[in-house]
Amino acid sequence: MRVVIAIDGPAGAGKSTIARSLAARLGYTYIDSGAMYRAIALWALRLEVDLQDAIKLEQLARSAKISLLMDRSVQLNGEDVTSEIRTPEVTAAASKVAAVKSVRSALVEKQREIAETASVVMEGRDIGTVVFPQARVKIFLDADPQERVRRRSVELPEVAAAQLAAQMSERDTRDRERAESPLVQAPDAVYLDSTGLAPLEVEEKILQLVRARVSNGKELH
Ligand code: C5P
Repeated sequence: MRVVIAIDGPAGAGKSTIARSLAARLGYTYIDSGAMYRAIALWALRLEVDLQDAIKLEQLARSAKISLLMDRSVQLNGEDVTSEIRTPEVTAAASKVAAVKSVRSALVEKQREIAETASVVMEGRDIGTVVFPQARVKIFLDADPQERVRRRSVELPEVAAAQLAAQMSERDTRDRERAESPLVQAPDAVYLDSTGLAPLEVEEKILQLVRARVSNGKELH
């Protein structure tokens, strides 16, 4: 029986670190759904597609071959785009293309397909609310805005902290306020505030939930 663990939350809450490590511990597949939106955004920017052109963006989202590899690298149509999808420009564009309904439907299909063949830890914004409303474990991972900016600053030292804070706040507001699948805690998700906690502490808390909800040993591999 396949298991889905959904981890949603705003940027910088620690989702990627936790989800990746948790997946490794459980022997599940780690899926960074944000990387898929980023890949479509990169392609759209390269082709100079208007980021509000729903028809063209949907064509890109449907025809894109996105591979999320085990080493965390990301391929778009066979090309390694791992670092290119993390630039501030692509990051901002990702949250714009993610507001387009047809793009979301195309990517949600791909996300569901992946979970048909494996147990997954999937992180994003709408995994517990829309992609897998029946997920076995749902976490809404949060942290104080200042702490989230500080964590991102460590990853992106070349961007000034004030600029990063403004970009993150703009992106989170867009993600929370969009009409389609906004960032919101699922009613049955467990809220976890990671402020001041080490990744391992957060991971332990989630593991406890997993153990309680995925009781059959076989399901835990
Ligand atoms: O998680 P990450 O920061 O890489 O996501 C980039 C953007 O992709 C987010 O700001 C959000 O707009 C979008 N996204 C989304 N739904 C997801 C994952 C990411 O809308 N499940």
